[in-house]
Amino acid sequence: MKKIIITGGAGFIGSHVVRRFVNQYPDYQIVNLDALTYAGNLENLEDVESKENYKFIKADIRDAELIESVFETEQPDAVIHLAAESHVDRSIKDPLAFVQTNVIGTVNLLNAAKKTWKSDYSKYRFYHVSTDEVYGALGETGFFTEETAYNPHSPYSASKASSDHFVRAYHDTYGMDTVVSNCSNNYGANHFPEKLIPLSINNIKNNKSIPIYGKGLNVRDWLWVEDHARAIDVIFHNAKTGTTYNIGGHNEWTNIDLIKLLCKIMDKKLDREPGTSEKLITYVEDRAGHDLRYAIDPNKLQNELGWKPSLQFEEGLEKTVDWYLANEKWLNNVTSGNYQQYYELQYKDK
Ligand code: NAD
Repeated sequence: MKKIIITGGAGFIGSHVVRRFVNQYPDYQIVNLDALTYAGNLENLEDVESKENYKFIKADIRDAELIESVFETEQPDAVIHLAAESHVDRSIKDPLAFVQTNVIGTVNLLNAAKKTWKSDYSKYRFYHVSTDEVYGALGETGFFTEETAYNPHSPYSASKASSDHFVRAYHDTYGMDTVVSNCSNNYGANHFPEKLIPLSINNIKNNKSIPIYGKGLNVRDWLWVEDHARAIDVIFHNAKTGTTYNIGGHNEWTNIDLIKLLCKIMDKKLDREPGTSEKLITYVEDRAGHDLRYAIDPNKLQNELGWKPSLQFEEGLEKTVDWYLANEKWLNNVTSGNYQQYYELQYKDK
C-alpha cells in the first residue's frame, strides 16, 4: 500500500494524473491536495471522487503549518507536485503571487516531506512537475535537453526554475529522493479557457475574435495531456533518484498554423462554410518578453524508459474539440466561475 499526495490535482494536468493513478493503481491511496484557486475545479474529477482509493484535501501550499499538519496526519510515501500558478500572462501582472505559490509553496512541501520522512529517504519520493519554459527561448533550430542551462524570461518561468533548483537542492543537500520533469505545452480536456487552445475553441464557438499575439510566429511543442500523465507515471515508477527528464512529442507549431488548423476542425464540427472561423483571427500586441520558440528533445525519456507519445496532433486536437463541444456545461461553469460553488455543494459536510 502506497499513499501519494498529488498537489494541484483539481487543475488541468493534475486531474489527468489523479485519474490515471486512481484507476491504474487501486492499491495506492491517492490524496488530492489543492487550494481550489480560480484554476482548480473538482468537476474535473467527478468520475473518481467516489472511489475508495481517492481523497480530496483542500489546503494551500503557501501555508507551511497547515501543510506540515497534513503530512503529519497523512504520512504519505510520495509526493507528485503539480500545484502552481501556471499562466504566464498573470505572472506578468502579479509576479509575487508566483513566488509565493511556486517557490515558497514548493519549499513548504519539501520541508513537510523532510520532517515527515525523518531523513530516511530510501522508501520515499518527491516528484516535481515542471515546464520547458525554464530553459528560455530557442532560435529557429536546436532543442532543449536535460543539460540545457536554465535561462527563464517570464516571472512564471523564473518561479518554476527556482522551484526546480530547490527540489534538486533537497536531493543534493539532504539526500532526499527527488525527480524533476520538464514538459512542453499540454493540450486536451479540462484545460482552463484562458490558455490558447481552449480559449480559441470557446471564442470560435461563440463567434468571438481569436486573439493572436504579434504575428503568430512563436513556436510551441504541443503534447496531449494524457501522454504527459502517462510519462509522469513512467518516470515516477522508474526514474533513478536525483534525475531529470524532458517530456515532449516533437510536435512544433507556430501559433498561427495551429489556430488555422483548429479553425478548419471547428468549421467541420460546427457545419460552417470552410474559412468562416479563420475570419475571427485578430492580431494583438505581442506579450512582453515573448519567447520565440520552445522545443524539447525527449530522447532520454524515450531511450531510457521507453515512453513515446500515443497521439498524432491532428487526432488529439480533434478529440479536444469534441470534448469541449460535448461539455458545454463544464465550459459555461468555468467561464462564469460557477464551478467554485461545486466544492461547497459536494464537500461542505465532509
Ligand atoms: P492549472 O493552473 O490548470 O492547475 C493548477 C492547480 O494548482 C489548480 O488546481 C490550483 O487550484 C492549484 N493551486 C494553485 N495554487 C495553489 C496553492 N497555493 N496551493 C494549493 N493548490 C494550488 O495548471 P496546469 O496547467 O495543470 O499545470 C500543472 C503543473 O504542470 C504546473 O506546475 C505547471 O507549471 C506544470 N506544467 C504545465 C504545462 C502546461 O502546458 N499546462 C506544461 C508543463 C508543465
